[in-house]
Parts: sequence; C-alpha cells; structure tokens
Amino acid sequence: MKILLLGKNGQVGWELQRSLGPLGELVALDRHSTGACGDLSNPTGLRATVLALRPDVIVNAAAYTAVDRAQSEPDLAHAINAASPGVLAQAAQAVGALLVHYSTDYVFDGSGNTPWREDAATGPLSVYGQTKLEGEQLIAASGARHLILRTSWVYAARGGNFGKTMLRLAGERERLTVIDDQFGAPTGADLIADVSAHAIRQVQRDPACGGGYHLAAAGETTWNGYARFVIDTARALQPERALKVLEVAPVPTSAFPTPAQRPLNSRLDTTRLRQTFGLHLPDWQSGVRRMLAEIL
Ligand code: NDP
Repeated sequence: MKILLLGKNGQVGWELQRSLGPLGELVALDRHSTGACGDLSNPTGLRATVLALRPDVIVNAAAYTAVDRAQSEPDLAHAINAASPGVLAQAAQAVGALLVHYSTDYVFDGSGNTPWREDAATGPLSVYGQTKLEGEQLIAASGARHLILRTSWVYAARGGNFGKTMLRLAGERERLTVIDDQFGAPTGADLIADVSAHAIRQVQRDPACGGGYHLAAAGETTWNGYARFVIDTARALQPERALKVLEVAPVPTSAFPTPAQRPLNSRLDTTRLRQTFGLHLPDWQSGVRRMLAEIL
C-alpha cells in the first residue's frame, strides 16, 4: 500500500509518520517539501502530486489551525481548509485513492450539553469552523472514498501545548484563572494517529466503513479541569518541581475575549467510531498523564 501524508510536521502529522509507517510505503510531505508539492495553498501542485504518485491512501493532516487569526485571513483559511481538501478529494477520486481528513468540534455551535453525534446539525461560530465544515462538504460531494475524523482539543508532547503553558504559568504565579464553561475532551495526537491507522486498514478491506466519525478521548472536562489535572499530575510525577500556584480559579469564557468565538459544548459522541471499528477510546486523563510523563 502506498500512502501520501500531507502536513507531516503538525501535531497529528508527526504521530501519523509513526503510526502509518507499518501500513506500507509512506511518502510524507509538508508545505516546504521539494520534489513533490505538499503545499495546501497550491491546489495545482497538490493535484499533480496525487496524479504522479497514484497513492492508495491520502492522509491530510495539514490545516489552517490558527483559530483567531482565521477571522482576519478568511481567504487563506478557506483555501487550506476547504478548497484544497476539495481538490485532494477530486484527485483521490481520479486515482481511486481513499482520502483521510480531519475536522473539528468547531463545526458545531456549542449549544446544549449532550455529546454531538455525526449527523447533528452543524452551525460553526468562527471562520475556522466554517472553513473546516466546507472542507468536509467538498470531500463528501466529490464521490471519493473518504474517512473524515472530527476531533477536539488536540495536544501532543512535541511542540507547544496547553499543558506546557499551564505548567509554566503555575511556576510563575500563585493564582491562575482558567475557563470553566467550555466542555470537551483533550485528545492526544498519538491516539488520533493510531486510530487512523486502524480505521484505514478496515476501510481498505471494507469500503462500506468509510464516511464521517467523531474521534475523541473518553470522558469530559473543562479547560479549568484540564489545567488542574495537569498541575496535580506534574506535582505527583515530579514532587521536587517548584510550582507556586495555589489556586486555579474558574472563570467564564467571557473573561477572555478572543476574535473567534468557541463552542461551549465540544463533547463528541464517539459511539459510531467505536462500534464500526471495534475500538476502545481511553479516558482523556491517561493520555494527558502519558504526555506529561514524556515532557517532564
Ligand atoms: P497543527 O497546527 O499542529 O498542524 C497543522 C499542520 O498544517 C502544520 O504542520 C502546518 O504547517 C500545516 N500547514 C498549514 N498550512 C499549510 C499549507 N499551506 N500547506 C501545507 N501544510 C500546511 O494541527 P493539528 O495537528 O493539531 O491538527 C490536525 C487536524 O486536526 C487539522 O485538520 C485540524 O483542523 C484538526 N483539529 C485540530 C484541533 C486542535 O486542537 N489542534 C482540534 C480539532 C481538530 P506549519 O507548521 O508550517 O504552519
């Protein structure tokens, strides 16, 4: 099996380089790659790459993920999150490849407090969410075999992440204020990559398993609960570490105005994914604990 991976150096892309390796011959590109175009702002180049390589599977982990900046760069966000995934889907259809793509809980409006199912009505609150939704729609309309995995609150050991920021602040201040009215599940890029590899194998054997799925770690928390878990776990793993923080105060989202509005309810119902692929999704704490053990 030949696999083309785009966005190889992002959080999920990096982990996919590991998890897709055993499935077959992997051609991994980023926007700076030479020889073959992996730049999602260059749809002509992308199409040429797919037609030349004729992969069995295309995995697109590249995206415009700067949620606030997207509000002032809607055209670029649209090109990368919607138009180019649409071009990839057409090219996938032309060569008979399976297209694997990632999307987000930000396609929802965040109302209510029950987990969103795949068929729930969408209602993005931001340019990022809108462009990710348009990407999904273009892929679904292309006729290409596809897997669209919507996920949430992604973190990875590599690069910056929310946990690292909280640990830095906890070392500097006695009191932190962290939002406690957005609910979701922190999901490790490693889990997303591993589940992707399992799902690809199954869809290649049984094309009827394709389509859209929600993929997130089990359980739920708030950013405030996530911050407290990170600090408590760091204290347990590394008692000698000097953390000044005494209080992680809960505040509403309105305390931190941002250009892009975030959904309050980011809970994703993962039943369809677990049942279709026979997979177990571990609770969010086990992945965060593991990430902290790696970085501390
Ligand atoms: P990252 O921001 O870590 O990675 C995105 C990658 O896309 C980066 O390597 C970036 O490269 C690359 N990229 C940006 N523009 C281009 C371009 N024009 N051409 C080629 N590559 C480009 O994101 P994640 O790994 O976290 O996200 C993976 C997927 O999951 C995305 O589809 C995202 O929308 C989705 N998702 C992410 C969530 C999160 O919390 N992060 C939550 C829910 C869904 P560079 O570094 O050079 O800019």
